Amino acid sequence: MGQGLLSRVAAAVGTPTFVYDLAAIRRQYGALDAALGPVAHRIYYSVKANSNLAVLSFLRSLGAGADIVSAGELERVLRAGFQAAEVVFSGVGKTPQEIESAIRAGVSLINLESAAELDIVAATAERVAKGAPVSIGIRVNPDVTTRTHPYTQTGGKGMKFGIPMDEVLAVARRAAERKAVTLRSVGMHIGSQIAESGPYREGAHKLARIVDQFRIEGIDSLHSVDVGGGLGISYTGDPGLNPEAFAKAVSFLPQQTNLTLLTEPGRFLVGNAGSLLTRVLYRKRSGGRDIVVVDAGMNDLLRPSLYGAHHDIRVLEPRGGDGGDIPVDVVGPLCESGDFLGMDRRLPGAGPGALLEVRGAGAYAFSMSSQYNSRPRAAEVVVEGERYGIARKRETVEDLLRGESSSVSWSET
Ligand SMILES: *Cc1c(COP(=O)(O)O)cnc(C)c1O
Repeated sequence: MGQGLLSRVAAAVGTPTFVYDLAAIRRQYGALDAALGPVAHRIYYSVKANSNLAVLSFLRSLGAGADIVSAGELERVLRAGFQAAEVVFSGVGKTPQEIESAIRAGVSLINLESAAELDIVAATAERVAKGAPVSIGIRVNPDVTTRTHPYTQTGGKGMKFGIPMDEVLAVARRAAERKAVTLRSVGMHIGSQIAESGPYREGAHKLARIVDQFRIEGIDSLHSVDVGGGLGISYTGDPGLNPEAFAKAVSFLPQQTNLTLLTEPGRFLVGNAGSLLTRVLYRKRSGGRDIVVVDAGMNDLLRPSLYGAHHDIRVLEPRGGDGGDIPVDVVGPLCESGDFLGMDRRLPGAGPGALLEVRGAGAYAFSMSSQYNSRPRAAEVVVEGERYGIARKRETVEDLLRGESSSVSWSET
């Protein structure tokens, strides 16, 4: 995104503000779709990465389906214009109410993450879905480890995600006995910010063996195999996961099994499409370091504090500061020492009033933001070419207090 446009957005909308470049989302979607081109596939955007309605609606216009993990996300995707038939429901802790809403809405697939969930889905389907059986998938824990941050690994033994390999067949047999559900998919999701294709290949081979086992057992209702999301991007200029390498690692799976390939990327589609605009409030020296205090904090962008994640920062409008020879720590205004956006950076002109761009803030940024320290959440803006539009107004203090009361009305139990 051009510096002029970002400056205009900051002047008009204020800071902190998230800005999403729709052209960048289109490029990423197009690259992945093209790489998978030769095989029957469908891309389900993982909504939790960035669940802004304008972003969702744009991804739908590109042809994406939606991968959701809560009833709140279900409501979002329906409001963004997705048909329920374009939605798959994943998640390790779906409540019975969420399962019921998903079945009533008619989502295309509910991915089971535990054996016990089968009973709840089947019982709910028997009760509320009059007519066609509810399509379910099994999310397998393929016991594949990835070299990523421990908090973003999901496919290893002993983790909370998915059904262990050695239980999958038993769950599939039980599913086959329940008339209210039909087993349509087996899948995996092995982690996030995965930079190499090896784990996908390894996991896909395990899925292929499971499909074979199912068929030997006479379970032949499958339509699709789901290789999950997790495709890594570059936050620093070094390459992320190349979509061609990903496609090469998994393409044998739909071909060999004759099933449609599903994938559920989040970060890959939106991560580098977003930036967080923030202004410098103060600059000071402490203990031999230069500290730049900005108006965005860990409540806006948690990734540096939560994962030690790196986000490139650039100065869009220099004001005073130094020439870039002094390393600075860019910190937020919250009362937490872990509240920082970037440490040890060289940022010429990062004095009070300077406008900074924190890059790579399109995924797991606003969607993870909070109101900690009673800070209203940032505005969200989409840009296309030289135009911009507000996709979510900045919250107000009134928004923060909605539903709260200083004089509670007591109930007798
Ligand atoms: C979070 C999640 C994804 C997306 O992960 P990314 O790293 O953003 O691609 C995909 N599938 C499931 C089940 C998820 O929970």
